Amino acid sequence: LKHITKVYERGMEKLHILNDLSLSVVQGDFVAIIGPSGSGKSTLMNMIGLLDIPTSGSYLLDGVATEKMSDNQLAELRNKKIGFIFQQFNLLPRLNALENVELPLIYSGLGKKERREKAMSMLKLLGMGERGHHKPSELSGGQQQRVAIARALSVSPSLLLADEPTGALDTKTGNEVLELIIQLNNQGNTIVLITHDPHIAENARRVISIRDGAIVKDERLLPLPGEAAHTADDATATAHL
Ligand code: ATP
Ligand code: MG
Repeated sequence: LKHITKVYERGMEKLHILNDLSLSVVQGDFVAIIGPSGSGKSTLMNMIGLLDIPTSGSYLLDGVATEKMSDNQLAELRNKKIGFIFQQFNLLPRLNALENVELPLIYSGLGKKERREKAMSMLKLLGMGERGHHKPSELSGGQQQRVAIARALSVSPSLLLADEPTGALDTKTGNEVLELIIQLNNQGNTIVLITHDPHIAENARRVISIRDGAIVKDERLLPLPGEAAHTADDATATAHL
């Protein structure tokens, strides 16, 4: 994202929600975005997830420029590249777990049988293999979020975007879902997680703080996978070069 602004008009008033925000996320990273309520986190997530377009600025996703795309092109890119996890799970209540996970695969070009097999294997991966025929209302919050994560992963997205994924869960279940997200990142999934909870953000590799629609802090807590942590010796060696 380069020089992103988002301006909403409310009557005569112009509300600047994102202010010249630039951000680059590399493959394999686990980035937490934190900030107070109203700071623009979900607005930013909507930009990253191609659910909304910025007022100005540019956005490259996997090297593809998105500014000039039509709504249809954006939807296609979004379906292919982004997996979403929301606070309220957003499962379709009339569909069972398996059908929910299958849904994004409709755009994948896979046949019905392959879609079902893929959805089943994703549910199994999330420990929900026995629950395929349950409706969301027959599942606990944590189980519903597992189904939602299976759904997000079903298309093998380039990026997993999570907005307060543990926000509707009790602490224990929330921690289980967080562990799952950490594990998914360790398996190579790129994750951007939005939260107002600093304790959740501590588990990410990189933590970005936003305030009033701008980045005020950007910290790396853990190196990228496959990149050795810089040690004091490295620093000394570099200093001698
Ligand atoms: P929370 O932690 O409460 O979820 P947030 O950081 O996700 O907050 P956003 O939802 O991005 O905050 O909202 C940022 C600001 O933008 C808020 O002041 C909100 O009222 C405003 N806003 C969001 N969407 C619109 C809209 N469609 N029209 C006008 N203002 C909006
Ligand atoms: Mg929000």
